[in-house]
Amino acid sequence: MSDALRPETLAIRTGTVRSQFMEHSEALFLTSSFVFGSAAQAAARFSGAEPGPIYARFTNPTVSMFEERLAALEGAERCVAFASGMAAILATVMGLMRAGEHVVASRSIFGSTVQLFTNILGRFGIETTFVSPTDPEQWRAAVRPNTRLFFLESPSNPLTEVSDIRALAAIAHAAGAWLAVDNCFCTPVLQRPLELGADIVIHSATKYLDGQGRVLGGAVLGGRELMEGVYTFLRTAGPSLSAFNAWVLLKGLETLPLRMAAHSRNALDLAQWLEVQPGVTRVLYPGLPSHPQHALALAQQTAGGGILAFEVEGGQPAAWRLIDAVRLMSITANLGDAKTTITHPASTTHSRMTPEQRAAAGIGDGLIRIAVGLEHPEDLKADLAQALGSVVGDG
Ligand SMILES: *Cc1c(COP(=O)(O)O)cnc(C)c1O
Repeated sequence: MSDALRPETLAIRTGTVRSQFMEHSEALFLTSSFVFGSAAQAAARFSGAEPGPIYARFTNPTVSMFEERLAALEGAERCVAFASGMAAILATVMGLMRAGEHVVASRSIFGSTVQLFTNILGRFGIETTFVSPTDPEQWRAAVRPNTRLFFLESPSNPLTEVSDIRALAAIAHAAGAWLAVDNCFCTPVLQRPLELGADIVIHSATKYLDGQGRVLGGAVLGGRELMEGVYTFLRTAGPSLSAFNAWVLLKGLETLPLRMAAHSRNALDLAQWLEVQPGVTRVLYPGLPSHPQHALALAQQTAGGGILAFEVEGGQPAAWRLIDAVRLMSITANLGDAKTTITHPASTTHSRMTPEQRAAAGIGDGLIRIAVGLEHPEDLKADLAQALGSVVGDG
């Protein structure tokens, strides 16, 4: 479908393939294999001479519809779907790299991604150097002759640090490496990394692409040639997205532009309100003028997204009291849901770091992360106001 269509239209109209029944809503193909009309057609399918489904580990029409729709939104030549975000990250490395090669990664990436690079890929001879997400010079200095991949998330979790994707793509390309961006927090509605020079976009579809906390899924997107290696790993190793999950995600994409606008609007409203509350010492949100990379965020994103962090006076005891006092928000580390979630990174998502590592990374004991959902912002503020009251009152 034409590139000239806008994201709201692409999210609803691309990728649809109808069966002989001409169903309006996309069908869920719950089948593990497909039948061929003849021995010759089977041979043509297997050789790749004729496109079409073979076996659901690597071809399923519902999964293909999701891939087509997400590819259109990211402006990518090809998308390969996976069972989870972590499977997508693993497949990127397994599909494109070999033992003895080197990764440069932001030190502010998802905890399981750090463990994957360090503890698992490290055992197979792929070494990773972790650097600051906001200092391109550290990336340049970390490059080795065998560096093949740069890897980042922007904005980061939980501090919402923004990386200069254009600058890091230029450094990666000068080094003969690819830049992969985990675009989970922004989704293609708020940020299109391929247009900024990245080679690979990775998604945990579990978050905003679903948007209602129902299913796990992942995706890798990029140029046709690069994605062939990623697809070959999927076809051979089998970390495949289930047809049912693909169907849920396909419908999730239809409302993605609407939802991302509402998440961003609610988060900005809450961030501005938090900035003037007693007991709150700082608020981190890319859409606030006080954010250290506000200008860069405005240049590469169309809105601030749904994630914010703030620090309360009184360290961990105060942060825990506040979290225990909220009534509406869910206490969970998940994000990208219609339901607002609240979490204490130092004792949950980032508890595997030492206190020194956390201090160096700026993740204080009083830091709280909120993934702002789609409830009415005034109800969210009222919930936080009464929770903050209990903290300030006790202090
Ligand atoms: C959740 C998440 C992942 C992992 O995705 P799963 O679908 O849980 O495997 C990767 N990156 C980011 C930024 C995430 O938030």
